[in-house]
Amino acid sequence: MDAAQKPAAVPPEQVFDWLDAEAERRADAGLTRRLRPRPATSTELDLAGNDYLGLARDKRVAGAAAAAALRWGAGSTGSRLVTGSTELHAELEHELARFCGFQAALVFSSGFTANLGAVTALSGKDSAIVTDKYIHASLIEGCRLSRAGIAAIGHNDVAAIKHALATRRTQRALVVTDSVFSVDGDLAPLPELSAACREHGAALLVDDAHGFGVLGDGGRGAVHAAGLAGEPDVVMTVTLSKSLGAQGGAVLGSRRVIRHLVETSRSFIFDTGLAPASAAAALAALGVLKSEPELPGKVLANATRLAEQLTDAGFRASRPDAAVVSVQAPSPEDAVTWAARCAENGVRVGCFRPPSVPDGISRLRLTARADLSESDVDTAVKVVSASAPPRAATS
Ligand code: PMP
Repeated sequence: MDAAQKPAAVPPEQVFDWLDAEAERRADAGLTRRLRPRPATSTELDLAGNDYLGLARDKRVAGAAAAAALRWGAGSTGSRLVTGSTELHAELEHELARFCGFQAALVFSSGFTANLGAVTALSGKDSAIVTDKYIHASLIEGCRLSRAGIAAIGHNDVAAIKHALATRRTQRALVVTDSVFSVDGDLAPLPELSAACREHGAALLVDDAHGFGVLGDGGRGAVHAAGLAGEPDVVMTVTLSKSLGAQGGAVLGSRRVIRHLVETSRSFIFDTGLAPASAAAALAALGVLKSEPELPGKVLANATRLAEQLTDAGFRASRPDAAVVSVQAPSPEDAVTWAARCAENGVRVGCFRPPSVPDGISRLRLTARADLSESDVDTAVKVVSASAPPRAATS
C-alpha cells in the first residue's frame, strides 16, 4: 500500500483473515502446534517435562500447596507491593537466597517475568547488552524491551563477547546468558564470561533455570558451581517450575539489586503476586532438596545413561551436561512424527522446532529425572529408537 492510499474498509468477520494465511504457511513448513492435555494419572513414561527432581507430585510439595491454598486463598489477591506478598513469599525469598549463596532474592510469578523484570530493570537506553544468541526467549524479550543496544553473539563465543564489550559506546553493560541452554542442555562458560565482564566493567546476568536443583553442590546451581554466587556483579534468575516442581520465578542478587527491582521492575510491580500455594510448594520442594542432596546426582546419572545409549543407537544426541538431552531430527515434520510415535508407544518426549530452536534444526528433547529407574531410561531409549523416522540415526 502506498502512503497516499487509505486502508480498505474490511467487514468485521474478515479483520482476522490474515491469521488463516499465516496458519497455512506454518502448516506448509511443518510448524503447526497443538495442545495435548496431559491426563492426571498416566502409565506414560514422561521424558518431556522439566520436573527434574520428580517433586511436582511429591506429597510433601503438593500437600504444602494444598494447605497454603486453604489458609491463604487460591490467588495472591494483588500485586506484590499491594496485597500479594505473604509470609510464604518472604520465607521463600530468604531460603532461596541462603541456599544459592546470594544476599537477597525476589520472587516473581514465573521465570519468564523474572527474566523480563531483571533484564529491563538492570539495563536501558544508556546501556549495552551482550548476549549469547541462544538465550531463552524470556531473556530475549527482556533485552528487546530494555531499549539497550544489543549485541547477540554466536553461541558460547567468549572472544566475540569480549570484543563487543570492549567496543561498546556506553559505560554500563550487562552480559546475559543461560547457564544451561534449554534446547541442547549444554553449558555456558560462566568463569570465562565472568572474567570477561570484570575485564570490561560489565555485570553478568545468568538464567540458571536448568542448572538450579541439578548442578553444583547439593543442586545450588551452575552459578554456585562456578564460584559466582554472591558476587556483587552477578545476578542469577531461576524458575520454580523445573527442579522445584512448583510454579514461579526468582531473581537473586545483592540487596541493592533486589531493592532496585522491587522499586522499578515492571513485571514485578504490575503483575499479580505468585499464588501462595506455589510459594508454599516451592518452599517445601527446597526443603526436600536440602534434606536429600543426592537427588541432583540421580538426575545427572540418568541423563548420562540416556545420552550414552542414544549415541550408541546411532543418534546425534547432545552431551548430558545437565538434565536435558536432545536428539537431532531430519526435519520438523520428522520431529513431530517421531514424538507422536514415541507417545503412541508410551513415552512422552518434547519436540522442538523452529522458531523454538535458534539454529533451525528440529530436535526431540528428552529430560532425565531423579525418579526414573535405570530400566525406565532403557525403555525410553528402546522406544525412541523403534519410533525413529528414516535418516534420524547416523549409523
Ligand atoms: N528460562 C529458561 C532457560 C527456561 O527454559 C524457561 C522455561 N521454559 C524459563 C526461563 C521460563 O520459566 P517459567 O516457565 O517459569 O516462566
